[in-house]
Amino acid sequence: MPRPPGRPFGAPAPRVTGRERPEPSSQLPARAPMSNAPSELVLGVIGGSGLYAMEGLTEVREVELATPFGNPSDAFVTGVLDGVRMVFLPRHGRGHRITPSEINFRANIWGMKRLGVSRILSVSAVGSMREDIAPGDFVVIDQFIDRTRHRPDTFFSGGIVAHVMFADPVCEDLRADILEGAKGLGVKVHDGGTYLCMEGPQFSTRAESKLYRSWGVDVIGMTNLQEAKLAREAEICYATVAMATDYDCWHEGHDDVTIDAILAVMHKNVANARELVRRTVPVAARRPECRHKDALKNAILTAPDAITPEVRARLGLLIDKYLPA
Ligand SMILES: [Zn+2]
Repeated sequence: MPRPPGRPFGAPAPRVTGRERPEPSSQLPARAPMSNAPSELVLGVIGGSGLYAMEGLTEVREVELATPFGNPSDAFVTGVLDGVRMVFLPRHGRGHRITPSEINFRANIWGMKRLGVSRILSVSAVGSMREDIAPGDFVVIDQFIDRTRHRPDTFFSGGIVAHVMFADPVCEDLRADILEGAKGLGVKVHDGGTYLCMEGPQFSTRAESKLYRSWGVDVIGMTNLQEAKLAREAEICYATVAMATDYDCWHEGHDDVTIDAILAVMHKNVANARELVRRTVPVAARRPECRHKDALKNAILTAPDAITPEVRARLGLLIDKYLPA
């Protein structure tokens, strides 16, 4: 199905597709039924296409929306799991048609914010840079190194400047909830690690791979850092589950990474990831909001009277709470 062209910001609310009728009030997805003691949490999940096809997800809908930054990777899939409202997005689009460099990270995170998401659990395939992180292992990372070159990775430009704190790029609360949810999963889960985000789409050279190991990198991937930066600017908690598929090319005892080998492990990883999301939802639902909901406080350097109506119209979703009415 062709994607709709981008619409100018400010006009229509998200379009709910499928047989369900839009909510009369807001056209946004319904809340969980009151009888099920709904959590205020709206949990976003960014990952592969198989992730939202999970047992127990009810009130499933697709929501297409345009953003001031263009179109997201795909329609968002919303639903309710264990009384928690969920929003899913396949970051490469269904059918895996968008390269890491082509992903519209800003539109993806903006869409999550627009749909009320307060925490994002990101799931991503990575290469392992460490002997003891075997293919099939999960790493709940806590740091990033940036080796990307071609990507817009801030909402704040074109007339407004903001510098958010990013020393700890991953939400510790959400990380703890994922680790709790992973208990009994039957997958080896590593607590903490540094994710090097490379540009791709080609894999690393052997020299690069060895260099990154000397830097103390634990896993290597192509997508998660921009999501983490933009989520912080959007005041959304963010954590990554990095699923190892291979040993990159540094490992002398293993065949160099091939697409076939990676796909075989990825298939198993997606099933495990789905189960991990299912187990993490009730844990996260019990936790109150964390400090990242105010991440922009004291971060916007531009004087309020220097913020033009155009900037305010473009970024109102993020900045209105900090500006005079
Ligand atoms: Zn947080």
